[in-house]
Amino acid sequence: MSAPVASFEAALEFARDLIRIPSLSGNEGEAAECVREEFVRLGFEDTRIDEVGNVVGVIPGQAGGPRVMLCSHLDVVAAGDAETWEYPPFAGAVAEGYLHGRGAMDIKGPLAIQTHAAAALRGRAPGDVIVAHTVFEERGGLGAQYLFESLEVLPDAVVIGEATHGDICIGHRGRAEVEIVIRGIAGHASAPSRAQNPLSLLPAVLEACRELTGDQPSDPHLGPATVAPTSVEVLPETRNVIPDQVTVVLDWRTLPGATEQVLLDRVRRAVGQRLTELPEGYGLDVRMARERHNTYTGVEREWPMLSPGFLLSPEHAVARAAAEAVGSRDGNDGPATIRPWMFATDGGWTCGVHGVPTIGFAPGEERHAHTNRERLSLGEARWSLERYPGLVLAVQSALGSAAGNE
Ligand SMILES: [Zn+2]
Repeated sequence: MSAPVASFEAALEFARDLIRIPSLSGNEGEAAECVREEFVRLGFEDTRIDEVGNVVGVIPGQAGGPRVMLCSHLDVVAAGDAETWEYPPFAGAVAEGYLHGRGAMDIKGPLAIQTHAAAALRGRAPGDVIVAHTVFEERGGLGAQYLFESLEVLPDAVVIGEATHGDICIGHRGRAEVEIVIRGIAGHASAPSRAQNPLSLLPAVLEACRELTGDQPSDPHLGPATVAPTSVEVLPETRNVIPDQVTVVLDWRTLPGATEQVLLDRVRRAVGQRLTELPEGYGLDVRMARERHNTYTGVEREWPMLSPGFLLSPEHAVARAAAEAVGSRDGNDGPATIRPWMFATDGGWTCGVHGVPTIGFAPGEERHAHTNRERLSLGEARWSLERYPGLVLAVQSALGSAAGNE
């Protein structure tokens, strides 16, 4: 069966409309409504906006066939000073062979491609094609986390729309932000003997951090985990006062399976070896950094700064089938390159936590993400849209024959 064709022009116009709606994390409401309307226009069924604001719709396949979810996100990062952009960040400009603006490649262009590719599979797919575009991906993935906890039936595979430059991506490291809090007793700097200065314990804590950086596990596909102290914060922040609190922040790029408990235990052990006895009057606390946000639908949530990593085996049937279906980007014979991403995605939730086989496929070069040169090659975008329906059918077929072999 030849793969169905979607209209590139229609997908491009949808992406341009979305870029014209700035949608920072927590303010995705208008973009979500625009996506919901497109779903309805394209004939999606069961279209809904869930409690935290994710937009979900289904192109039904034959009953009982493998269910594949296509997943992008609704939020974008801030544009910064618009004057520094070559093309305005929220205009959806098309020029010099590129779509320009915040979200062009991360991720409104690929979101539009996934949406239109799914619609082209109407009446053609052996199983349901679910399309879910999430909130808060850029702040740790509350949307995907909520979605996968709330689904009654998990999909059989997920395809993420984060930029892969036409390759098939199979995982990435996770990210965690750990805080080491040293507490003392504040006092006026003119009378240090009456205070307990937490800065006096800082060298030992930083030495423990240095030991941690040199003692990290490695993965043959994802490379080593890394950890680095990135900030020292002092309270109160007054130069003539001895502080009562010093916080060292660690940015940890983790391998799959690194849970909050594992990470905190490792830091506690490293610090404990350096500070075998805490001097009288001091306290020490190792904890995950946390953030509190409101979704545009009015749900208030606090969550630890912990985005899980994941890795699907490059030999997994889903990865192999996708790479064969897409083919090499440069037009040579042979499958697409299979590799990990350098950055984190919602795949940490779908695969790392929930175990659903997850891959990524999308146009766009990673180096343009989050910059004031964000752009999407129209040629590569058109090529990706042409290949997307075939990729979904190949993944469903691979899942179907894997189930048949069980
Ligand atoms: Zn993204």
